[in-house]
Amino acid sequence: MEIERTMVSRRWVIKTLSCLACAIPISGLASTLHAQAKVSKEQAAYQDKPKGDQSCSNCAHFVPPRACAVVAGDISPDGWSKYWAAKK
Ligand code: SF4
Repeated sequence: MEIERTMVSRRWVIKTLSCLACAIPISGLASTLHAQAKVSKEQAAYQDKPKGDQSCSNCAHFVPPRACAVVAGDISPDGWSKYWAAKK
């Protein structure tokens, strides 16, 4: 009976450690993929000046002070890209 308890305990430890070993790289991969989900300025046709009355400062994707949820890199509030969307 004592041996059986030890076996169950070892099995539990091995399962738990293997789950943790998998979970840590997966969470790291998820954050890496999330970070890479942004498109480049070139892909977004980003420019440092507004397009008409459209600018990053009045775009729904703008993240003050100088970031964007869609486009990677330093984003000017006065910039613009093809992903511009009106704030709701
Ligand atoms: S989606 Fe384009 S326009 Fe909107 S904040 Fe990002 S870079 Fe600026």
